[in-house]
Amino acid sequence: MSDNFREVIYGPVFSWRLGRSLGVDPICAEGKICSFDCVYCSLGRTAMKTVDRRTFVPAKTVERALGEALKSVKADVITFSGTGEPTLAKNLGELIEVAKESSDLPVAVLTNSSLQFRKDARKELAKADIVKGKLDAQNDELLKRINRPHEKISFSEIIAGLKKFRKEFTGRFAIEVMFVPENKDFSGEIAEIVETIEPDEVQINTPLRPSPATPLTREELEKVEKSFRGLNCRSVYKARIPARRYLKVLGAEKIRRLKRVD
Ligand code: SF4
Repeated sequence: MSDNFREVIYGPVFSWRLGRSLGVDPICAEGKICSFDCVYCSLGRTAMKTVDRRTFVPAKTVERALGEALKSVKADVITFSGTGEPTLAKNLGELIEVAKESSDLPVAVLTNSSLQFRKDARKELAKADIVKGKLDAQNDELLKRINRPHEKISFSEIIAGLKKFRKEFTGRFAIEVMFVPENKDFSGEIAEIVETIEPDEVQINTPLRPSPATPLTREELEKVEKSFRGLNCRSVYKARIPARRYLKVLGAEKIRRLKRVD
């Protein structure tokens, strides 16, 4: 494998939502490449903020690395995440196909929802078994404060993209809302919008992993959760799997950079 892509596979790590999650990083960059620059991002500030899709890691590299990793690790799911926004990889669909051909494990993608208004991105994402989209705001103003999106991204396009994707996607579709002090008082408005998207599940989260943002307390998150009553919700504080527990099956030296894992 080329030295540049040695960290294309990482983990497995324990995900509170997915169990033992073997990560695939379709970006594999030194600095984060993302369409957002969230205030709570565990990877720090975005090095390249973009909405341009391109190929970062060739499918052959993923195929080889995944085949090697699967010989020695046990996982519950293969998850596309890593050092940026997975839908920026314009070969994401091909990479998901490679993952599905490599094992019988379900394939998940963690996305920030910013490119789902694009037909090509939706089509590729729809090849996955599980998709988790992000929605932390109820309007452009809060989106800008929390997610600091690329200037070409608008709140209305995100919502339209999520609704279209929901109609087209036959797999399991979850919406994650990351609560931080900036959006905790808007949980009612956010819940109303989430309800119109009709996800299979809503994941109520707050940054318990190392993050520049202050997480909400258990009590604060319980209060927020009440706004989502009637929806199928999971909350990070109530998760069965401890959010901070990492499985270092491949060894710490192979997870040399922090990757986004949940
Ligand atoms: S949390 Fe995700 S969407 Fe937000 S800046 Fe980090 S990688 Fe991008």
